[in-house]
Amino acid sequence: GDPLGVNVRAVSLDGGRVAIEATDVTEAHRVARVRRDFVANVSHELKTPVGALQLLAEALLDATDKDPAAAIRFAERIKHESARLGRLVSELLELSRLQGAEPLPEPEPVDVDKIVVEVLDRTKTPGSAKHIDVVSHGPHGLVVYGNENQLVTAVVNLVENAIAYSPESTTVSITTSVSAGDETGHEAGYIEIAVADQGIGIEPRDIDRIFERFYRADRARSRATGGTGLGLAIVKHIATNHGGRVDVVSSVGVGSTFTLRLPARPAEAAMALPPSVEI
Ligand code: ADP
Repeated sequence: GDPLGVNVRAVSLDGGRVAIEATDVTEAHRVARVRRDFVANVSHELKTPVGALQLLAEALLDATDKDPAAAIRFAERIKHESARLGRLVSELLELSRLQGAEPLPEPEPVDVDKIVVEVLDRTKTPGSAKHIDVVSHGPHGLVVYGNENQLVTAVVNLVENAIAYSPESTTVSITTSVSAGDETGHEAGYIEIAVADQGIGIEPRDIDRIFERFYRADRARSRATGGTGLGLAIVKHIATNHGGRVDVVSSVGVGSTFTLRLPARPAEAAMALPPSVEI
């Protein structure tokens, strides 16, 4: 690290004079560091489940004759761990696609009702396994501008988290609304999709970090739920790629609400930031 973010170099000129050349390298250093950290994190995140799978396979081989009941337990853990590894790989690919490998698809009008129906369908199984009702509220006929697949992915991630971090027999709600905007009209022209749960909530010290790749407030719980630590990073990228954003309000032991704010007009969608270079 260069605390000043400046490369300083002495250059000798004719006649014994010396010039000082300074180059601002803050951004270049930051990008290089983020990339290094990311590769280190990915290696670690991949090695852990691969190591676990090796040990479990050895234990399974060992137990096959001696203890068939234990062998079944090891086989089930292999299944769980390999499914998580598969999810990790596909989410990494998804994230790297979103991070600039491909240009943002042309924003198209997307029916919010269609997003909600698709999300309810895709989250039915995890919800009913925990007796969690996933319900939706809001006016029909809302339209946002963007890419339908990405938007469904974002809301599915939020609802899957809501289910994963909630106790059994609670409710998760998806509420859609039109953002009224302030008196100057700022923030008008946006649609909000809010996913609220009655779950464990998020500590204030974690709340600013949960959108970072691989950040989990509670690693053990995240692993147990099959989490990869990439879901919210993907949601955040999708929101910014759409010229929108995602916010969270949470209270420990009460629940969390994640709100996606998306452009309701093509102009706002076209103002999306260029894909980030963080990979
Ligand atoms: P993970 O795969 O671990 O769920 P995410 O990126 O989706 O990764 O979420 C990051 C972390 O944010 C989670 O590990 C969890 O600590 C916290 N989190 C996300 N959604 C919720 C929620 N609805 N309620 C409580 N904590 C949540």
